Amino acid sequence: MKCRKCSRPAVFNMRQHKLALCEVHYPEWFIAQTQRAVKKYRMFGPDDRVLVAVSGGKDSLSLWDVLLRLGYQADGLYIDLGIDDSVGYSAASREKVEQFAAQRPDARLTVVDLKAEYGETLPEVARRVQRGRVKPCSVCGLIKRHVMNRVTRDGGYDVLATGHNLDDEVAVLFGNVLHWQTGYIARQAPVLPARHDGLVRKVKPFCRFYERETAAYALLTGIDYIYDECPHVVGATSLRYKGILNQMEEESPGTKLQFYLGFLRARKEGFFREQAEEVELHPCTNCGQLTSVPGLCAFCRLWI
Ligand code: SF4
Ligand code: ZN
Ligand code: ZN
Repeated sequence: MKCRKCSRPAVFNMRQHKLALCEVHYPEWFIAQTQRAVKKYRMFGPDDRVLVAVSGGKDSLSLWDVLLRLGYQADGLYIDLGIDDSVGYSAASREKVEQFAAQRPDARLTVVDLKAEYGETLPEVARRVQRGRVKPCSVCGLIKRHVMNRVTRDGGYDVLATGHNLDDEVAVLFGNVLHWQTGYIARQAPVLPARHDGLVRKVKPFCRFYERETAAYALLTGIDYIYDECPHVVGATSLRYKGILNQMEEESPGTKLQFYLGFLRARKEGFFREQAEEVELHPCTNCGQLTSVPGLCAFCRLWI
């Protein structure tokens, strides 16, 4: 198969776009598509300071790479959760992120080490507060949201960017539709505006890329990322949904993209608007971040 843009052999074929590209034109296409998404959804402009949440995986490192290549003021944030399984997940992913930043003179990285800053790793705090439940994911989500919000706000950033891809977004949407969680559906979007002072604006520039597209970009541009996923992802419901969606995609290429774009169109037309209820928020008495319950926020309650 030949590249659509030149006569070289194609290295990557996107059946859903009926587009095959070579090793030169694929990364170019990927970067241009990211720029299009940033503009289309008015995510940020050249004067904005962007903080990219990086995990060491292919999506977030590719996002940081592309935003730097496009000339955006993009810094990185890595949260060291202290997950020490057989592959030493946190230490290994942190190393990938630090190497990535060290290779790029314009990449500034902030590392928040949970143990050093708060006295416990994620597994330690989860064991203490969860009383027997094995998976630390709900505590992890809470910690990451808090830290990302704090660093974005305190660092004077205009926006927080995450590497969620189409497969991630579609799995979340599928789960929310399956259970008719209309409040969550209403709040799913490529751009989440800062609804209150003190909450940060969040964007997902890769929300229209299939996971295999971000993987291909990382491989073709030589980004050294961690292949292993967090050990706690095993058995997650989202993985089951991804499996089902992959089967549908296999039989009918483009299913995932159509599902997601159809949802975005419906959203734009005002579907689910009424479900986006406004919650009253109060500043946490310890850290000042906003919380729905007066007093301490859920993050501070973990430690105090
Ligand atoms: Fe955190 Fe790992 Fe669970 Fe993801 S899978 S939420 S990184 S503990
Ligand atoms: Zn080509
Ligand atoms: Zn707090």
